[in-house]
Formats: sequence, structure tokens, C-alpha cells
Amino acid sequence: MPHRFFLANLSDSGTAVLDGIEAHHLLHVLRASPGDIVELFNGAGLVAKAEVVKAGRRDIDLRVLESHREEPSSRQVIIGTAVPKGDRFDWLIEKATELGVTRLVPLTTERSVVDPRDSKLDKLRQTVIAACKQSGRNHLLELSPVTTWASFVKETLSSSHSFVAHPGPGAPVLSSELLGNHSQVAFAIGPEGGFTDGEVALAAEHKVTPISLGPLILRIETAAVALAACAALRSL
Ligand code: SAH
Repeated sequence: MPHRFFLANLSDSGTAVLDGIEAHHLLHVLRASPGDIVELFNGAGLVAKAEVVKAGRRDIDLRVLESHREEPSSRQVIIGTAVPKGDRFDWLIEKATELGVTRLVPLTTERSVVDPRDSKLDKLRQTVIAACKQSGRNHLLELSPVTTWASFVKETLSSSHSFVAHPGPGAPVLSSELLGNHSQVAFAIGPEGGFTDGEVALAAEHKVTPISLGPLILRIETAAVALAACAALRSL
């Protein structure tokens, strides 16, 4: 795979200009020179092979040689999750991107302790781009604004084939039979203190199935990766 660069305003032919951090990497780390071939993607399915024409001090002129559009996956995977502390959320976003999660929704719940501010979400968008570059993903993972539990249940879980991850006896372990073949699946993951009985009851009112991920208690980010991996294997 050639080196990949993200360019939001990429066109399917003609010229392209890379600047900012994307240009910095190509100029100063890879020492780009005219004739080098790279891959550009716009994060919405457009992918181009491009040739470096001129490497300036801060930006790079390229010529698009060929391009194609990649359709988004016909299977949507949505994960709503309480936010883990520190850089664990960054790790979660990176892995969710690699595993093909379509949309990630940071949740506030009764026992949530972390509420990332918008500036942090902007930094996480850079993590999404980096993971797309590295993994060959051409549609960015969509990172939603922070959402309350009640809105997530009503707006997303109720209209998808959905599950709330909730440890404890009684809930069935997630399986491919339970996941089925639906075009949109959605999962919810609670905070380290877990969902409250009231929160689980609200989900049940909207026909959301509680599921277990086994007898051990996983950290938020581990539960997210486990769910994303199950959903990714289902769509192969
Ligand atoms: N002390 C909490 C555990 C919180 S772990 C409790 O007992 O409920 C953080 C979140 O990860 C949980 O709310 C749940 O959504 C998910 N999770 C962790 N381990 C899980 C398991 N074994 N089965 C299902 N969900 C799990």
C-alpha cells in the first residue's frame, strides 16, 4: 500500500494541494520529491493515486492520476459508550476505526465520570484519520457529539437491532445468532460503575436486549473492542 494522506477537499481529477500536518509528514518525514506516488483519500469514499509535482516549504502540489469511489459498507455498526479515563478513549477510537465501526457515540450516564469536551473530540478526530490512513479505511468513523443515555436509547437503540452490554447472570452471551444479519446493529457500553437499574429498564422498554460478554468484568475499552470484533466478523 502506498503512503496514504487525508485530504477532505480531494477532487476526482486535476490537482491537489496538501498542507498542514498531512504535508508535514510527507515533506519532513518521508522527504517527498517530484515523481513520488502517494494515495489520497477524502474520508467519504473517494480515493486517488497522485504524483508529487512540487514540494514547497509547507505544502505539496500533486496531480491526480486516477481515482475511484468506494461505497460505504452496507452494514452499519454503531457503538454508544461511556467514556473511559485518559488516553484509553483514544485507544478505543483507534481500535474501533480499525475494526470498521461506522459511528461512535460518547455517552453520559448516571454513573459516568468522564465527559470529554469538544476540544478533546477534535483531537480524537485526528486519531480517526490516523487509523484510517494506517488501516486502508476510506470512510471515516463518525464521532458523534456527547449524547445522554435517554437520547441514545430513543434516537438510536430503538431504531436498530440493538444490545446493551450488561454483566451479570441472566443475560445471554453475545453470539452470531443473536447478532443476526441486520443492516444496522447498535451496542451500548456503560461506565466503570455500570448502568443503573433504571437505565437498563429504559433500554428494555425500547426492546433493547441485555447481553453478556462472558463471566469476567471488562474495562469499557475492552468491551468496545470485543463488540466491534464480533460485529466485524459477522459482516465478512
Ligand atoms: N461494575 C460494573 C462493570 C462495569 S464495566 C458492573 O458490574 O456493572 C463497564 C461496562 O463494560 C459495563 O457497563 C458493560 O457495558 C461493559 N462490560 C464489561 N464487562 C462486561 C461483561 N462481562 N458482559 C457484558 N458487558 C460488560
